[in-house]
Amino acid sequence: MTTTMTTMTTTMTARATTTTRARTTTTTTTTTTRAAIGRRRAREPNARRRGDACVRYNTPAGVGRKADDPLGVFRLEYDISMDEAHRPKTWKPTVTVAVSGAAGQISNHLLFKIASGSVFGHDQPVVLRLLGSERSRQALEGVAMELEDCLFPLLREVDIGIDCRKVFAGADWALLIGAKPRGPGMERGDLLEMNGAIFVDQGKALNEVAKPTCKVIVVGNPCNTNALIALSHAPNLDPRNFHALTKLDENRAKCQLALKAGVFYETVSNVVIWGNHSTTQVPDFVNAKIDGKKATEVITDQDWLENDFTPAIQTRGGLLIKKWGRSSAASTAVSIADHIRNLVNPTPEGDWFSTAVLSNGNPYGIQDGIVYSFPCRSKGDGSYEIVPGLEVNDWLRERMKKSEEELTSEKGCVGHLVGEAHVDVPDAGCPVDLEDTLLPGEM
Ligand code: NDP
Repeated sequence: MTTTMTTMTTTMTARATTTTRARTTTTTTTTTTRAAIGRRRAREPNARRRGDACVRYNTPAGVGRKADDPLGVFRLEYDISMDEAHRPKTWKPTVTVAVSGAAGQISNHLLFKIASGSVFGHDQPVVLRLLGSERSRQALEGVAMELEDCLFPLLREVDIGIDCRKVFAGADWALLIGAKPRGPGMERGDLLEMNGAIFVDQGKALNEVAKPTCKVIVVGNPCNTNALIALSHAPNLDPRNFHALTKLDENRAKCQLALKAGVFYETVSNVVIWGNHSTTQVPDFVNAKIDGKKATEVITDQDWLENDFTPAIQTRGGLLIKKWGRSSAASTAVSIADHIRNLVNPTPEGDWFSTAVLSNGNPYGIQDGIVYSFPCRSKGDGSYEIVPGLEVNDWLRERMKKSEEELTSEKGCVGHLVGEAHVDVPDAGCPVDLEDTLLPGEM
């Protein structure tokens, strides 16, 4: 604890030192790491590239900014290698977690959960590497300050930056949350194109600098196809390690089944979301269980299951925005935490969880080459397998197909971003017929 507090205090002091040093190029007492970073910053003060979706500079390099502005990765000013000797022997080796959109609403809830130990475990020290943009740089510093002020023992280092090639360096986990929301009058195809460009660059950056074993969870929408784009540009990483988040949809489905059955939601299990994180998603009540019994035996109102429950889950995000005027940041953060816990803990015998993963070789006849949400289980080592043998009746099959077709269309729309059919960037929007369906949070 003493070590931690010293560390945090050092950090706060160091942040001011970093800024001062970068502006005045004064050398203070530094560790080797610090000196190297300082030199790198001095050599490439404007290392970002115009048009780089990851860095997202809208103004020409240098405009309105001094050449020695402290952009780039900010590191804590202590030598992390010294850390090992002072921490509890029961702790695991540190994991590095990179987060994009780190100054956004979801991250504002999630980062504190991760730093507290409630996500990766109370014996798992973490390094947080936070990606923002020039626009959010001040906010990101504020986030880092708040993290410091919490004195979380397991949070051993916080780096903030605006260049994904620096922020993703050495990442064990990459949580890709940052994405542009759909604006008024914007077609789904426009959103795919715009956010797709971000995920091309972030995929390339992960390929270049993340650990080959890095697990990537894409949250920024349209998350399934964004995940497909990212993995297409990261051949050094295992494509099976790319996920798109559908855990929030699963949690919503569990809650509604519990409310209808009049039981506590902990007794609801075996719920899967099939397909796309969009209004075509299929929350599966056919295989769901309540207190170990088939949900359809506990809730016998089939009309409710098909015509109330199903659309309610598909559109719940939109309803929440309508009621509250903002999106579901807190419950999304909880579901990202759940998703990670699902991968780093063994799945209870006989149960499964939802995650959208590469469909190649799946046992349900969904075509290869898309990121589709399946029932999965994990041994707790960060990997997963798709659970075979769930009942797929005609009702489910028809809807699963519709979601598959939507994902195929989305893929066609961004073919030029996933190295397929449409190699040239289309001049006039999406080159395939893409139905303008909504994301769950959109109205
Ligand atoms: P916020 O608007 O609070 O934050 C979004 C972050 O994205 C901002 O911090 C911003 O970072 C970044 N961003 C904005 N524009 C761009 C851009 N052009 N390129 C790269 N990054 C950009 O949103 P939330 O945190 O509430 O939501 C983030 C994403 O998560 C959204 O895409 C949302 O649709 C999605 N989502 C997914 C869910 C799921 O279940 N899969 C559920 C709920 C939300 P900066 O300021 O640093 O530029």
